[in-house]
Amino acid sequence: MDTTSFTKKTIGGVTQVEPALTPPPIHSTQTTFTKKPTLGTGKSRTKKRDIPEGLWTKCPSCETMIFDKELDGNLQVCPKCQHHFPIASRERIHSLVETCTFEEMDAEMISVDVLKFASYKSKLERDRKATMLRDAVVTGIGKIGKHQVGLGVIDFRFMGGSMGSVVGEKLTRLIERATEGRWPVIIISTSGGARMQEGCLSLMQMAKTSAALAYHAQGRLPYLSYLTNNSYGGVMASYAALGDLILGEPGAMIGFAGPRVIKDTTHADLPPGFQTAEFLLEHGLIDAIVPRNEAKDRLVSYLDYFASGKLAA
Ligand SMILES: [Zn+2]
Repeated sequence: MDTTSFTKKTIGGVTQVEPALTPPPIHSTQTTFTKKPTLGTGKSRTKKRDIPEGLWTKCPSCETMIFDKELDGNLQVCPKCQHHFPIASRERIHSLVETCTFEEMDAEMISVDVLKFASYKSKLERDRKATMLRDAVVTGIGKIGKHQVGLGVIDFRFMGGSMGSVVGEKLTRLIERATEGRWPVIIISTSGGARMQEGCLSLMQMAKTSAALAYHAQGRLPYLSYLTNNSYGGVMASYAALGDLILGEPGAMIGFAGPRVIKDTTHADLPPGFQTAEFLLEHGLIDAIVPRNEAKDRLVSYLDYFASGKLAA
């Protein structure tokens, strides 16, 4: 058997190549060259695997990997392409009001499952735990620049920022308190609309918040509505569209019904950029696009303007 294997080697004619020492190293260098790029991609793959979750976020717009701390320091705005990520309500309030001036209102108010709607209670529990909030809006009185304002900020993480009895009641109380104190109101919205789990009770909040704003307006007090990504439904059909000044965050999707519903109903192709804040600015629903990083300065200048107008009147 051994002899046959010997003959095989000699038969191979390739014996010239085989015994020579040069070919194998050539082969090996070649293979390393061809392997190098594959090794490179392999390395980046393992790198991605090595990254612990929650440290980096991939920007959905420019696909850059952003260090989460950098994103936190930049108010959840992509430093490369200015894509606006969702931001928690408390983080936003912190970025706008003067330090230690925010006095929260009705912090203990919680929603009740009046209609015994399937899984509503468990969803409320889930979102309370996940967000450390009692419901989808945080309201209070605080100072922005030198101006005392009533500020309400919706948080999309809590039941999609939907307006149920608690959101409606807290906003109404905020507006009423601002009317009494003769302060401007600023409401920052992000919402899927009315909270269907509360049926018509949630729809009634549309009328209630709008009525409170009407009294506020009668006192010749300014109301600024700042619409951020995903402002839809009952919220847009009530208080969010009633601002003396309506501002929008860059790229925010804003409307009553979503684009798919409109397309299916009208059987028409929608224009490019339909329902974005930029599109609505062009068409007159929104007065200005305000990037999140500039929000505080811009709000201060608007409030200054309103205040000076009041003095002049
Ligand atoms: Zn980006």
